[in-house]
Amino acid sequence: MKTKIGPRKTRKEHGKRAAEPWGASDDRAGGAIDRFRADLELPCSFRVFRGFRSTWLGAACAVLASSGAASAMAQAVPSNVPGAKPQDTEQWTPVPPVVTPGATSTAPPSDAIVLFDGKDLHEWVNTRDKAPAGWSVANGVMTVEKKAGNIETRRSFKNYQLHLEWRVPVNVTGSGQARGNSGVFLASTGPADAGYELQILDSYKNETYVNGQAGSLYKQYPPLANAARPPGQWQSYDVIWTAPTFAADGAVKTKARVTAFHNGVLIQDDAVLAGETLYIGKPTYKAYDRAPIKLQAHGDPSPPLSFRNIWVRELPGK
Ligand code: MG
Repeated sequence: MKTKIGPRKTRKEHGKRAAEPWGASDDRAGGAIDRFRADLELPCSFRVFRGFRSTWLGAACAVLASSGAASAMAQAVPSNVPGAKPQDTEQWTPVPPVVTPGATSTAPPSDAIVLFDGKDLHEWVNTRDKAPAGWSVANGVMTVEKKAGNIETRRSFKNYQLHLEWRVPVNVTGSGQARGNSGVFLASTGPADAGYELQILDSYKNETYVNGQAGSLYKQYPPLANAARPPGQWQSYDVIWTAPTFAADGAVKTKARVTAFHNGVLIQDDAVLAGETLYIGKPTYKAYDRAPIKLQAHGDPSPPLSFRNIWVRELPGK
């Protein structure tokens, strides 16, 4: 994509630069840069020059411009295919579907399935008996009822993008794995904790084994960073889940993959799982096609977590 560079600014217009964020000292460089830009048609990336704070760089640009080197810099990269045109590499179909984003970047977009909007748990059942989910809902949030056990979605999913928000209570107690423990199982493949767990835990100044802290793919991958907020604050996970695939005889064709963000920070970068996440033992795969998403009611005695704003977008997979 090219950007036409406008004509050189007048002295009066340059005067306005003093009020711009990079300050009056760069005004001197600005004049040189504008002269440099005036005769050129450059890629958008060239706009980075506008942000340069150093007058030395501005001076360097002026030297380049006067020496004619600038014209050489502005040449398009030569094609590696003789006679090729830009149009040769333009793709016009299929047109991506229109998805209207939410009012904020955390609100569900138009094609999302809303799993919890603060009102009720009709999208959820108890993992144990598939009865209506026994967690509590009040003031727009759901809160774990440990006696009810894990809950999971009524619907089953394959590949998807998931957003959920969780909060460790401000009065949380305990330490290590016994402090604000829950989890989101990206595929619930059976009762109890069967499946693939992205760990939820109070990991704000709370030491534990790193492949069991918040944002870990439990006992397989520590998070790339600890992005935990303190207890009492809402936190978010945004997850891309690529389900494993299996041959007719149950053999693994492709392994599960996870990319995840914790409070907007990348914590899992296309991590390839060795199998289901196990508390004890070696991970192994168990064939399935579609599976619910499960939230964990952990047995530790610390006060229970809460959740809000949970939605999912099904993806075609790769
Ligand atoms: Mg857990």
